Amino acid sequence: MPIPTLTDLGVTDKWQQKLAKLHIHNAWDAILHLPLRYEDETKITAIAHAKIGESVQVEGIVLQQEVQFRPRKQLLVHIQDGMGATLFLRFLNFYPSQQQQMAKGQRIRALGEIKHGFYGDEMIHPKIRAAEGAVLSDTLTPVYPTVSGLTQPTLRRFIQTALEKVDLSDTLPKALLHRLNLPDVAASLRLLHQPPSSMNSAQLHNGHLPAWQRLKFDELLAQQLSMKLAYQQRCQGSATPLIGNGRYAPILLEALPFALTAAQQRVVQEIGQDLQQTYPMHRLLQGDVGSGKTVVAALAALHALEAGAQVAIMAPTEILAEQHFQKFKQWLEPMGIEVGWLAGSTRKKAKDQIKTSLVDGCLRVVVGTHALFQDDVVFAQLGLVIVDEQHRFGVGQRLALKSKGQDVHQLMMSATPIPRTLAMSFFADLDVSIIDELPPNRTPIKTKLINSGRRAEIEAFVRHTIKQGHQVYWVCPLIEESETLQLQTAVDTHVQLQAAFSEYAVGLLHGRMKAADKAAQMEVFKANEMQILVATTVIEVGVDVPNASLMVIEHAERMGLAQLHQLRGRVGRGQAASVCVLMFTEPLSDLAKARLKVMYEYTDGFEIARQDLAIRGPGEFLGAKQSGVPLLRFTNLEDDLELLEQARDVAQYLIMHDQKVVETHLNRWLASREAFLGV
Ligand code: ADP
Ligand code: MG
Repeated sequence: MPIPTLTDLGVTDKWQQKLAKLHIHNAWDAILHLPLRYEDETKITAIAHAKIGESVQVEGIVLQQEVQFRPRKQLLVHIQDGMGATLFLRFLNFYPSQQQQMAKGQRIRALGEIKHGFYGDEMIHPKIRAAEGAVLSDTLTPVYPTVSGLTQPTLRRFIQTALEKVDLSDTLPKALLHRLNLPDVAASLRLLHQPPSSMNSAQLHNGHLPAWQRLKFDELLAQQLSMKLAYQQRCQGSATPLIGNGRYAPILLEALPFALTAAQQRVVQEIGQDLQQTYPMHRLLQGDVGSGKTVVAALAALHALEAGAQVAIMAPTEILAEQHFQKFKQWLEPMGIEVGWLAGSTRKKAKDQIKTSLVDGCLRVVVGTHALFQDDVVFAQLGLVIVDEQHRFGVGQRLALKSKGQDVHQLMMSATPIPRTLAMSFFADLDVSIIDELPPNRTPIKTKLINSGRRAEIEAFVRHTIKQGHQVYWVCPLIEESETLQLQTAVDTHVQLQAAFSEYAVGLLHGRMKAADKAAQMEVFKANEMQILVATTVIEVGVDVPNASLMVIEHAERMGLAQLHQLRGRVGRGQAASVCVLMFTEPLSDLAKARLKVMYEYTDGFEIARQDLAIRGPGEFLGAKQSGVPLLRFTNLEDDLELLEQARDVAQYLIMHDQKVVETHLNRWLASREAFLGV
């Protein structure tokens, strides 16, 4: 049975717009809109027996009603219950209709929390109803998350109707549920929407409640099924197999001043295998900052070029894309392969030229930002897309890329390792290669946490570092509230450091600079004609200057773990012992303390990502924050690992043995979310 639309439920357009704000687009969405908390209208409590701080329903006759004007305008209603106890009800906002409802002599019910007030025990802004004709509810009353203009009774009515109209028969076989020890889905949903009065809040909000376990399991199962199907679909798809002929790759290997690490060799092999398949590669190349992913990307590109395909390399920022452009030019041009450049800031004329040569196929390699995947960029023979720092692209951009080249081989690279839980869930349709070894002769980075009050010591250390012939990054604080303020801070810091280090060249790099100016600054820094580079967090991603061995980060307490790890990875790329100074300003929040501690204790990106996931949850990691749609609503991957493992195994089994169940389950759970789950 198809899922009823909101119109089927009799919800008018006006209300549908309100519901859309709650991400409720059909009857099933309404059913999954679960209560924030519950009110108990199943009984009436004697005023004398009500505990302070507890939410209760009382009933009484209004003894007196009065509007007071001091200390501010308020309505004060005094009631007395059948046992003679009295209570004040206080309203700071009220309507004439409420005054009427609570006129002297009326019998009313009030639901709220009892507090000690100035005049005696009182309820502030209780929920009021006339006692006349009111019946006691036999279930707890759900209170749902809502938006302005949509009252609880209205929303409750919609959800109630949805619960009645949707076919809630179980999608999963009884035997399976029995084996997993999970309850029936209809019973689980009804319990959470209309719990019996015997249950309390703590029980209802405990994630281990069987009803919750069932919803989480269903959600995870839907996700696992869709991931596995996506994987299967891809493996049945068609792509041009790219068979290398060894014309280019050996030349690059010969020219490199280093030998590949064993890990690099292994992943180059894995990618090479994939490229020769008749279905598109979707491989994620994971390797900590500095593990040498770029050269692996270049070798993959050469493989594709040997097979006659075009290659596009995309990076999330112009600075990083520009660096790749330089590297690729340096590596490929000696072999007579031209490398093109396309970014948002590229002039129209140059852009048009690049586009023409991509569509007629003269240009075989292009490096750039997401400008590469605008609709009007057409490739004659795109065979391989390489996406660097993949996690920096939002869900939307990844979808755009997907639509561009369904049949194109894709290599995604990320320095932010994907924790196991995420690898098993959102990234389950990707193949993963891991570079688990850093190039030799790197010295580990030492991290120091220093209070910003000790700036003079830090400056002395900067001077010491420069005297040793090394260079320094000085990262200005992130100011989330205002980009202008952030820019100002960077400019001020630059002036201040120029004065303090007048004998050295001090440069500045920030997000508002023209791409060409940024590139020029980077060039000067790279050539060691500049000793200190003051930068905003634009250098977070992928910048590579091996001679820089000190990084100072101001207000490190404001930054996230992934960001700090990326920043820190800018040093420790050469052979000199490197240091990262995290400057912080007190007082520190608990979150900031936890993050700085992690940075101090760990250098391994995998461990940091794991800690990060525990602190922040997966949504942000996936770049889905901006989409506003929670990817998993009920499940917390860290807590529900066991359920995730079960869902994975059950999904595998169902796909092999019970196509019908797969279909009904997906149909119910993915009605409006398919696009996101499939990313
Ligand atoms: P990331 O994985 O962070 O993108 P890069 O590709 O930028 O790392 O490489 C970091 C640095 O290590 C670069 O200067 C690169 O030339 C160097 N490098 C890469 N592979 C090796 C290797 N096998 N031996 C020595 N240096 C290497
Ligand atoms: Mg990189």
